[in-house]
Amino acid sequence: MIIDYQSAALIIVDVQNDFCPAYISGGKSYPEGSLAVAAGGDVCAPLNAVAKEFAERNGKVIATQDWHPKNHASFASGHPGKKVGDFIDLGSAQSQVLWPDHCIQGSEGARFHDRLNLDPANLIIRKGSNPLLDSYSAFFENDRQTTTGLDGYLKAFSISTVFLGGLATDYCVFYTAMDAMRLRYKTYVFTDAVRGVDYPKGSVEQVLSAMKVAGIGMITTSDILQN
Ligand SMILES: [Zn+2]
Repeated sequence: MIIDYQSAALIIVDVQNDFCPAYISGGKSYPEGSLAVAAGGDVCAPLNAVAKEFAERNGKVIATQDWHPKNHASFASGHPGKKVGDFIDLGSAQSQVLWPDHCIQGSEGARFHDRLNLDPANLIIRKGSNPLLDSYSAFFENDRQTTTGLDGYLKAFSISTVFLGGLATDYCVFYTAMDAMRLRYKTYVFTDAVRGVDYPKGSVEQVLSAMKVAGIGMITTSDILQN
């Protein structure tokens, strides 16, 4: 696959400790994240390889970081009588799943996975800071209107194609990819560099087919690394 890197960006979504199983890196043990996605850390190696390629060829590399205040509305802990996995109405476009406390600003769980190399990153976007609103997409918070600034950044550099990987397939990657299409970027997802929550059961399969229907390209990192 031939890419015009000058007009392309890699978006690495939420590869943070709280979304990853326990691991050891640099002699340090990291505990299982509070919202660990099966094999979440496995996305680091392919994303590092692609990020290096983008950096060497003058493409943009962007990483997003879920970054919640302690009292974030998506945490089940703040809703008496509710539990993780319940749905509530937060007035956003979709009903809100209640999650365990995760990615609290400044915490170890909110840090990027230690094996993710962010040296090539041009920009880090933090999202989910509004205590009353969740933010799955790298482009808009879940009211579908409050921008994160990413679209303006990409347009300022005349980026027309985006490539996505990271966590989790059925939430932040999915909403980012669908918004990218809505904003008229040519959009690709690296199927070997995403992992899903799969809650509710079957949601990974469902979003993969929804993304295909929407015209999002499903490729693997080797499709671009073999050039
Ligand atoms: Zn979150």
